[in-house]
Amino acid sequence: MKHYQFGVDYYPEHWPKERWAADASMMREMGIQIVRMAEFSWEKFEPAEGEFHFEDLDAAIDILAQEGIDVILGTPSAAPPAWIVERDPDIQPTDWTMRRRHFGGRHHDCQSHPAYRTHIRRYVTAFAAHYAVNPHVVGWQIDNELGNSHGDLCFCEHCEKRFRAWLREKYGTVAELNRAWGTAFWSQGYGSFEQVHAPRVTVTGINPSQELDWKRFTSDLVCEFHQMQADILRAAAPEKFITHNLMGFCSKPSYYDLGKQLDFASHDQYPGGHFHARHDEYRADWHAAELDFIRAVKQQSFWIMEQQSGITGWEILGRAPKPNQIPLWAMQCVAHGADTIVFFRWRSCAMGTEQYWHGILPHNGVPGRYHREISAFMKKYAPLLKELHGSVPKADVAILRSYDQERAFDIQPHHPNHRYMQHVATYYKALHRANVPVDFVGEHHDFTPYRVLIAPLQFLMTSEHAAKLRAYVEQGGHLVLTWRSGVKDGTNLCYTEGAVPCLVDDMCGLALAEYDCLRDTDGLVRWDGVEYPCTQWCDVVDTTTAESLATYAHEFYAGTPAITCNQHGKGKVYYVGTTMGDALADRFISCLCEGAAIGGLLDTPHGVEVTHRMAGGRKYLFVLNHKEVPQQVKIPETWHTWDGAVWEGTLAPLGMQVFVEL
Ligand SMILES: [Zn+2]
Repeated sequence: MKHYQFGVDYYPEHWPKERWAADASMMREMGIQIVRMAEFSWEKFEPAEGEFHFEDLDAAIDILAQEGIDVILGTPSAAPPAWIVERDPDIQPTDWTMRRRHFGGRHHDCQSHPAYRTHIRRYVTAFAAHYAVNPHVVGWQIDNELGNSHGDLCFCEHCEKRFRAWLREKYGTVAELNRAWGTAFWSQGYGSFEQVHAPRVTVTGINPSQELDWKRFTSDLVCEFHQMQADILRAAAPEKFITHNLMGFCSKPSYYDLGKQLDFASHDQYPGGHFHARHDEYRADWHAAELDFIRAVKQQSFWIMEQQSGITGWEILGRAPKPNQIPLWAMQCVAHGADTIVFFRWRSCAMGTEQYWHGILPHNGVPGRYHREISAFMKKYAPLLKELHGSVPKADVAILRSYDQERAFDIQPHHPNHRYMQHVATYYKALHRANVPVDFVGEHHDFTPYRVLIAPLQFLMTSEHAAKLRAYVEQGGHLVLTWRSGVKDGTNLCYTEGAVPCLVDDMCGLALAEYDCLRDTDGLVRWDGVEYPCTQWCDVVDTTTAESLATYAHEFYAGTPAITCNQHGKGKVYYVGTTMGDALADRFISCLCEGAAIGGLLDTPHGVEVTHRMAGGRKYLFVLNHKEVPQQVKIPETWHTWDGAVWEGTLAPLGMQVFVEL
């Protein structure tokens, strides 16, 4: 596969044809090598059933090809046209109150609906056949941001029918379903699969086992919906790649599962998006975490398919990116493993919901600051991206990101402020502050390459998963487990035998005596005489063999262990009984890393991030200042600036420098 460093998302159908050649020429001058198009253009190319008009798209591809620019084409199943909705209004999704969601936005489709699938098959088959032979079309994107704004949205009879088939396949008999869902409670026993519904709006809370299976089902549905199109595209053009624009920690479909169908993962990165309420909040750590997670999807380098290139918003806008901030955001993606950056989008659109989701060019098409900054960034760093292609960092610490645990906590957060990913991020952010490289892993990944595995909130503990964790520790791994681990089995029923954390209590060297939800208060943990805030939850434990590292300093359980460590086999198991504040998380991560002989890449002031990628036997180091003030950084003598610049010891506000360690 040809390598690309920079691209742009482009919608020629929004502009007069007379402008296309000028756009293509300006793109080439900037250094754009690839363009993504057509993912929302169904009505243009099939204005009536079976009448395909790809002439305009052919012309746009030709114009781009004349400038040496290749193309990724998107399938348009995120926006079925009005004539399809008129013919088959049933394809519009229904929410959990059975209200229909109507045409006029996007994603107004039921992914289960047989009629909708027929429409998609017809379009994608014709689209694939037409472009399979075009050498300038090098790859496909299916749909758009699957799971973002839909996923468990539709509760219609077609979705329910598929849900029942999924349950039948999983449980075999309705008796087994009744057992797994605990339907003895509130008289919920089923006499047949036909009596089972999607978890529609109820008077009170819904059966948590039913909800968990529904979330698993909708994830599988999204993946199967993608597979249907992937099969058509692969059969027509086996040499063209398939990717998808994933959305970081979006949790509706499992990206681990979806990733199996992709040649490589892509991601949409909007660090200054309008959906962030406070723009003075430090979020570079969260964005870093999302990028590290996208790298985990295929355990390889990835693309950014939409990189923010201006101020963004729909009805409400975010802050304008500051001078140099767009290049810094793009470099952060490279620093975490992006091979190719595709900027969203070429030109701010004059029409529709995304009028203010600005592109490289403003509405009038005359280049301004965004164009100037992005252009300079691309020119300077294209050679660096070529050198880095395919490389990844080397991490000794892995964090387990589990879709199943996240689903279970979405259903039962326990504490009103508890969110699974935010909890996981308390560990990630402390490692980020210490500049310790991190890989994310799923339950299915190999844990053995890592000296440390942080596995927060292992709420649902299957015997298979417990055995894998046990083997990891016995072979010398350092495992971190936390509160609400080993509480339930895989169907969301509480364990009724053994001590929590069930199946791993002996490894932890402790047993849960009781717990406290800090519903209306915060707590304190004392470690070496220093008190640190903690929040949300406190496990009160009886240790058997575990050593207490820190104790609670509040409530009736003051003095009992809050954080412990237990030797097991050749390894260690840490247990954290509460949600740590930043200071406590820093103290814990420092202890954990010291115990596993892991150091950070560099000591830096807050807001200066350091990451690395290993390429061609060389270590590339990225030093990124996410703060709007100059920051001094002491660089080791073995690090040399990648561009040969003299290192003066200070990073400019929102500045960056790449080094190579020889
Ligand atoms: Zn449906």
